[in-house]
Amino acid sequence: MNYLDSHCHINDETYNEGLDAVLDNMLNNKVTKAMIVCVTLDDYYRTLKIKKDGISFKKAIGVYPEYTNMSENEFSKYLELMKEVDAIGEIGLDYHWYPETKDKQKELFIRQIKIANELNKPIIVHAREAMNDCYEILKQYRTKGVLHCYSGSSELAKEFVKLGYYISIAGPVTWKNAKEPLEVVKNVPLDRLLIETDSPYLTPEPNRGKRNEPTNVIYVAKRIANELNIDEEILLKQINENYDALLG
Ligand SMILES: [Zn+2]
Repeated sequence: MNYLDSHCHINDETYNEGLDAVLDNMLNNKVTKAMIVCVTLDDYYRTLKIKKDGISFKKAIGVYPEYTNMSENEFSKYLELMKEVDAIGEIGLDYHWYPETKDKQKELFIRQIKIANELNKPIIVHAREAMNDCYEILKQYRTKGVLHCYSGSSELAKEFVKLGYYISIAGPVTWKNAKEPLEVVKNVPLDRLLIETDSPYLTPEPNRGKRNEPTNVIYVAKRIANELNIDEEILLKQINENYDALLG
């Protein structure tokens, strides 16, 4: 029974210290696949150095919604790296932190979806307090991908699934006040579900308050299996198939 983390940032500077222990933990707990998401160019170069026998890493890069003012010169550097990675992301819309750049965010998002389609690569979508706009864009510019750390309603989750997207569930599903994430879990078909940590953020219970790491994906899996009343083994088998289907 092997776990996977479909979205983490162990290339983040927070792991300059202790990365070896993080990787050992993964191996010892059978977290054998992970998608490392690069937000900056430095993230990408740090990712290239992350290796561990027994763990298969994939990587993604994309221009985050924060960077709507990026120069064309800088963008072209991202574009070159997009050709080297397994997925384009995280890209999307964040109206929580950057409400003043909505239109520019949409433009940047659409531009990168088109690039992903040209490169025939899946997208990893970041959407925060922007679910409806995100849905409209993804409906118009069909592509394959995943809604990472999904934080929308279960109704909308079903609509994303109809468009062919995967829904990835992160640590908040384990938190004591989790309600919506559990509704989502129950309403998304198993063959569209993914799990992640988004490390170093959003640490699941019982480790909340500590730096997150991919091994904590175990708690996400256990909480989902428990809620769905299914064998964890069956859940993980399907999640592994979903991950491979999305990222090939
Ligand atoms: Zn992320």
